[in-house]
Amino acid sequence: MCTQVDKRWACGHVGYFQIKYCERLFKGCKGTTAHHEILEEPELCSDCLRRKTLPNPLVSK
Ligand SMILES: [Zn+2]
Ligand SMILES: [Zn+2]
Repeated sequence: MCTQVDKRWACGHVGYFQIKYCERLFKGCKGTTAHHEILEEPELCSDCLRRKTLPNPLVSK
C-alpha cells in the first residue's frame, strides 16, 4: 500500500509532505493507508518561519 508521508517541524506543526507510491499502484493498490510516516524536520515550518522573520507591522496592543 502507498503511504502518506507527513513532516513534523520543530515548531510542532505537522503537514502533508508527499505520497510514497508502492509498486502495486494501478495493480490493485487501494491507495494510502491510515498510517502516515512522519519525517522529523529540525526547522520551523514555512508559516512560522515567515512569521518569525517578518518585521511584523501588524502588532496590536
Ligand atoms: Zn500502493
Ligand atoms: Zn510551524
